[in-house]
Amino acid sequence: MTIAEALNLGRNTLTSESPLLDAEILLAYTLDKDRTYLFTWPEHELSAQQAEHFSELLKKRQVGVPVAHLTGNKEFWGLDFKVTSDTLIPRPDTEILVEQALLKIKQLHQDGLNARVLDLGTGSGAIICALKHEAPYIEALAVDLQPAALTVAKQNAEQHGLSIDFRTGSWFEPMVNARFEVIVSNPPYIVENDPHLSQGDVRFEPLTALTSGQDGLEDIRTLISESRNHLVEGGWLLIEHGFDQEVALQKLFADNSFEQVETIYDYGHNPRVTLG
Ligand code: GLN
Repeated sequence: MTIAEALNLGRNTLTSESPLLDAEILLAYTLDKDRTYLFTWPEHELSAQQAEHFSELLKKRQVGVPVAHLTGNKEFWGLDFKVTSDTLIPRPDTEILVEQALLKIKQLHQDGLNARVLDLGTGSGAIICALKHEAPYIEALAVDLQPAALTVAKQNAEQHGLSIDFRTGSWFEPMVNARFEVIVSNPPYIVENDPHLSQGDVRFEPLTALTSGQDGLEDIRTLISESRNHLVEGGWLLIEHGFDQEVALQKLFADNSFEQVETIYDYGHNPRVTLG
């Protein structure tokens, strides 16, 4: 079987949302090459072992296992991140949160201040690693409740040579008395029993990283009210949320006396991040 034939096989076998892209990523992974190799050498013959491995991966993908779990890897902010079933798989939508946090971090830097930045519910560490990579002068801290997720996050920071202080605990628990210029979070925000939880990649991701009570806002309420005690005067809180939570987030920020509250839309034109 050649590379071109293997890609065709993948495209015709998979019924996922993006069969060709999935097949390309899985084949590149099988061959231990990057995707451009596939287009440069379409006539290259796979060994019997490689063909077997690729067909195993297609079978697993076909029963729903996320591509990122099959390769153990996901690209976010142009960087490679290790992911396991202990963490949420980084989403492109979350790059909006990184972009917005960077605007605040860079503004503070121009004003002569190297921000202390806290990432709550860091999971794979994708957000805090992207921020530290882009703005190495920040003091970066990150918290997660799950030790298994922190193991992954620490490996990611190490792989990218980033110095980040990771702590285990629930939200601000390990951060008593500490204050920050910037606090970011992509918390769980899906309503419990949401029917989407039985479709696609989320079936294989930790529920603790996805759902938050009956209205999806339980953790966000905690984050917004407790942030008041952990931000310096003029500091910023940025939270990712669901496409239908803009009004609720605006109200929660206002009720907790945040100023300059703004909701930013993602590239799919959905409200995605509220900050204040
Ligand atoms: N945005 C993710 C999804 O809808 C959920 C991430 C989260 O709950 N933080 O799949």
